[in-house]
Amino acid sequence: MASSQPEPPAQEADLFLMEGDPADAVAAARRAGVGRLVCAGIDPESSRRSIDLAQSLPEVFATAGMHPHTASELDDEGWQQIREMVAMPRVVAVGECGLDFYRMRSPREDQERAFGLHISLSRETELPVVVHVRDAWPAALRLLDEGSAERVVLHCFSGDASIATACAARGWFLSFAGNLTYPKNHHLREAAAATPLDQLLVETDSPFLAPQAIRGRDNSPANVVEVIREIATVRAISFEAVRDATSANARAAFNRLQ
Ligand SMILES: [Zn+2]
Repeated sequence: MASSQPEPPAQEADLFLMEGDPADAVAAARRAGVGRLVCAGIDPESSRRSIDLAQSLPEVFATAGMHPHTASELDDEGWQQIREMVAMPRVVAVGECGLDFYRMRSPREDQERAFGLHISLSRETELPVVVHVRDAWPAALRLLDEGSAERVVLHCFSGDASIATACAARGWFLSFAGNLTYPKNHHLREAAAATPLDQLLVETDSPFLAPQAIRGRDNSPANVVEVIREIATVRAISFEAVRDATSANARAAFNRLQ
């Protein structure tokens, strides 16, 4: 990596869901100044594909876990596979996991059970847990408080300023995505302004949540610079200050990125 280059990792770009060659998306991200990307797995199969990408592309790192949407499909065999993948080189976190009571594609009990397993694995492996929360804040906070995960990354943060403050007080990292730039999402901009600078992360959630300027098209990791720009605006600080802070925070959150 070029030491003079800014290195804001586009946390959770689901490269395996993108059209075209992932290597091209990663090269475009490099040109935009992105040094490292975390490609999050959402079930055993996609976690395996993330690891394959991480082994072939030096900028890419992987996670292994089961998304709350498919939590009810997590059987003993799948969980054993996730446990084994988390121990592999270039896997930097447990997850994506969490609770989504908005779509409720798996029953609540199944989501909570799977989430609890991931939290325990985070503590056991001393790796961060990448967490998805939608319309489930009280339950998510309760499970995370009870399970005392090693480190918590709240991916694609969806709460308001008061939830951001409560999460930050627990020492968790809050990762913001391109939906921060959508006109109606005042609550996200207030949350990004309320989060301590040393607990902020940026991501794209590619291919989803393209920033406002290209909304409706597929998102790409290079667009993480739009998220940085928006955070700089709402906090009234420079682009460089947000870029440098989120880069350092990513290395603190994902210790295996070093
Ligand atoms: Zn998610």
